[in-house]
Amino acid sequence: MSQRTPIFAANWKMQKTAGQAEAFVEAFLPLVADAEVDIVLAPPFTALDRAGRALGGSRVVLAAQNVNPEEKGAFTGEIAPAMLVDLGCRYAIVGHSERRALYGESSELVARKAAALLAADLLPIVCVGETLEEHEAGRTLDVVGNQLDESLAQVPEARAAEVVVAYEPVWAIGTGKTATPEIAQGVHRSIREWLCNRFGEAGQAIRLQYGGSVKPENVAELMAQTDIDGALVGGASLEPDRFAKIVHFDRA
Ligand code: PEP
Repeated sequence: MSQRTPIFAANWKMQKTAGQAEAFVEAFLPLVADAEVDIVLAPPFTALDRAGRALGGSRVVLAAQNVNPEEKGAFTGEIAPAMLVDLGCRYAIVGHSERRALYGESSELVARKAAALLAADLLPIVCVGETLEEHEAGRTLDVVGNQLDESLAQVPEARAAEVVVAYEPVWAIGTGKTATPEIAQGVHRSIREWLCNRFGEAGQAIRLQYGGSVKPENVAELMAQTDIDGALVGGASLEPDRFAKIVHFDRA
């Protein structure tokens, strides 16, 4: 594990009503009261307010699962960065593979979202990752390199350390298949090299999350890798005790 503060983020996707999110927070906070890592919850937009109120001033912070890069205007159904700030968000996830695959989001759009978040003093969690087909064709590093080139194109060097990059091999998301710690570390090392080439010394400060079927049973071996600084967690983040075990990875 690195000197960077570990960061664990729960991506609940389209799950949990506001009341269910509040109940999660009430059960979860006592379980992580002594955790010395950064903990982020990303409920659906509709649960941000209730979850945020339940979090109060705790060390667990809120994230949105998406954002529109514009400040305001005729964008039906969309949410602007300032609206997330208003609800107490600290982070927003951008470029999740489900948004790329199901809603046609390009890395160019992800770049605009990341820039808009930084401009609003929100911290972007920028997701990258290859599909199974790309993985099997040995194209992982090309694909991830291109996604980084394009998705981080508008991040100035002075703000780079505020960005979190989540490497999520698409074939490992929600499938129960995890990249082995060695495979994950290999890609994370390449991402780190890319970040240092692009941002200089700040590249060392950027936290890299692994995502893809992370659970209490496999988190410790992933976190033992030099360039894995945390996890973006879907399924295993939906239950307070399972996500708390991930957060306490050194005791899992
Ligand atoms: C995700 O949603 O980003 C994710 C990694 O999901 P899961 O942990 O369920 O694979």
